[in-house]
Amino acid sequence: MRNLANNLQPLAINAATIKQWSLAQLLDGCARRGVTAVTPWRHHVQELGAAKVRRLFADTGVRISGYCRGGFLTNPDAQAAHDENVEALKEAADVGATSMAIVAGGVASDTKDLSVARQRVTERLNKLFEQAKTYKVPLLIEPLHPMYAGDRSCVNTLSQALDMCDAIDPERSKYLGVICDVYHCWWDPYLKAQIYRAGKDRLQAFHVCDWLVPTKDMLNDRGMMGDGVIDIRGIRHWVDEIGFDGIIEVEIFSERLTALPGEDVLALCIERYQTVV
Ligand code: ZN
Repeated sequence: MRNLANNLQPLAINAATIKQWSLAQLLDGCARRGVTAVTPWRHHVQELGAAKVRRLFADTGVRISGYCRGGFLTNPDAQAAHDENVEALKEAADVGATSMAIVAGGVASDTKDLSVARQRVTERLNKLFEQAKTYKVPLLIEPLHPMYAGDRSCVNTLSQALDMCDAIDPERSKYLGVICDVYHCWWDPYLKAQIYRAGKDRLQAFHVCDWLVPTKDMLNDRGMMGDGVIDIRGIRHWVDEIGFDGIIEVEIFSERLTALPGEDVLALCIERYQTVV
């Protein structure tokens, strides 16, 4: 039985979870509470500059767990998509992020054929993979729930993401992997098998939140762990079984949480991480 008591070491907070706080406030709050890792977004680096972001992390002793985000590779303009991602990778390297999340991009605007969109993602990730090795920042494909296939991601299952990894990186280098986010993957009948297939070299991040019933907004109504219907402990058990040693990131886009004091949201993240994750 794993020890759930007070070990906050794997816990990371995605900055979007407490967006009522500035990055400085979030890092300060996490440092005070013993949370050791935070995932920032590109807008933080674009607003503050990489040097300032790096200094904020260094001053509080909080680690940069990931970087949100690159992708949107189904853009008909291949060069624009590539350049934007190289820029994001450079930022991730500049701030010392240990990985960058990839949101593939939805159905392309120039064709309704989803297989074309997926093929584009594979081809363009293949090219970007070389840059990931250069910048030493792993790309982590995050499959999104199929409700986002229209606008955000044509990669909707761990199986599809792992097929891409196998095609691009058969040597299983650490520079290409996947994120299992329970919000996106909980419904998948093949989830357990795909977590085992991924192994801990491919599965480099585990994201947690909950699926509320009813969900009132496709993007901004994700639930705090324990408030919805996902068997988070069950999925965590599979993830533990493969020897997963990456970060467990609380990533919740929620207008309800944004309306609360940041301090309360952070306290709730910690409490629920300890009791239901
Ligand atoms: Zn996620």
